[in-house]
Amino acid sequence: MKCAVVFLLALSVPRLAGAQTPYDLLLKGGHVIDGRNGIDAVRDVAIKDGKIAAVAANIPPTQATKTIDAAGLYVTPGLIDIHVHGYHGEKGTAYAGGPLGVPIDAFSLRSCVTTVADAGSSGWRNFDDFKARIIDKSKTRVTAFLNIVGYGMGGGTVEQNLADMEVKPTADMALKHKRVIVGIKSAHFNGPEWAPYERAVEAGTIANIPVMVDFGSARVRTIKELFERVFRPGDIYTHAYAGGGRGELIDGKVNPAIFAAQKKGIVFDIGHGGGSFVWQTAVQAFKEGYYPDSLSSDLHVTSMNAGMKDMTNIMSKFLALGMPLKDVVGDMEPGEGDQARTAGQPVGRGACGGRGAAAREREVRFPRSARRAPRRHPETRL
Ligand SMILES: [Zn+2]
Repeated sequence: MKCAVVFLLALSVPRLAGAQTPYDLLLKGGHVIDGRNGIDAVRDVAIKDGKIAAVAANIPPTQATKTIDAAGLYVTPGLIDIHVHGYHGEKGTAYAGGPLGVPIDAFSLRSCVTTVADAGSSGWRNFDDFKARIIDKSKTRVTAFLNIVGYGMGGGTVEQNLADMEVKPTADMALKHKRVIVGIKSAHFNGPEWAPYERAVEAGTIANIPVMVDFGSARVRTIKELFERVFRPGDIYTHAYAGGGRGELIDGKVNPAIFAAQKKGIVFDIGHGGGSFVWQTAVQAFKEGYYPDSLSSDLHVTSMNAGMKDMTNIMSKFLALGMPLKDVVGDMEPGEGDQARTAGQPVGRGACGGRGAAAREREVRFPRSARRAPRRHPETRL
C-alpha cells in the first residue's frame, strides 16, 4: 500500500533574479486532495510569492522558475492542527511558558501543518508574552484558545484556582486579539465544581468564539450535563477517544449522550496527546459511527516522544481504523461553517491565495508500537 510523507511546503520560494516566468514553483502531476474546492484528482499546482496561484490539469513547466515532479505524491492544502502547546519558555511553568510546550515551527511544517491553535497554554495574564515571543515570530500561523485560568496551563495548583478563572479579563483579552484568539479553553480541573466550564462559556459568549474543554478528572461531573446544559453548538470536546473514564464509553459502548451532542452541533476533537487516544475507544467509536470532527495532535514535549509522534502518524492511525484518505485530510481542512477551524480567519486554503503542502507516497509498515490495535490496514502509513 501507499504511504505519504511530508515532502514540501510551498511557503516561500525565492524567485530567481531576472526570471520572467509567471510562477515561482510548479508541483507537477501530484494527486491533489482538496475537499473545500472539491478536488480529488491529479493536478498541477503553481505557486507565486508563497501562495497557491493556480491549480489545473496541465500547467507547462516553462511557466515556472522551478518545477518539481510530484507524480506519486499527495498534494493537500496546508493542514490545520487545532490542539497544540507551543508556549515554551524558561520563566514559566508546565505548558505556560515552561518546559512542556514545543517550538511550533520545528514540528508543524514538516508534517504538512501550516496553521495551529494553541489549546490554552496561556491565559489573559501571560498571553501578551506568548504572542510577543512566539505567535508573532512563527512561520506557522499560530492562533490560540485562551485559558479561562489567568495564568494559563501552569500546572499543579495554578489550574485548580477558581479565583483566577475570571470571565471579564479573559473575554476582554479575546476581544482585543480577535483574529488571533479563536476560542476559550478549560482543562485539567480536578474539582467537582462546574464553574470553570460555565465561566469559559460565559467568556466565549461575550467574545463570540467557541470553548474547548478537556474535562479534567473529577468523575462527579458527567459529559451528558456538559453537553446538554453548559455547551453551546460549536463548542469543542477534546480528547474524544480517551480511555472512556470521562464517560465516552459506558459498559464498552459509546455513551448515547455523545450522539445527542453531535446532533446539537458540538464538535468532537481528537487531541491525541501522550495518553488521550486509546485504541479500544477508537475502534468502538468507529464501530458505532462516533466519528471525530477534527484530528489534532495535542503536541507537546511528552506526546511527541510517545505514541503521538506527529500529525501524519495520527492520520495513519485513522487510515488504519478504516477512514478514507480524503476524509482523513478533510478532517484537517477548514470546512464551510466549521467554526472550530475557521474561527477568526481564513486558513490553509488549497485554492488560489492559500498555502499548500505536499506529501509523498511510499511503502512503510505500520509500527508495532501501535499497541492493542486491531489493525485493519496495518501496512498503510502516511
Ligand atoms: Zn492539550
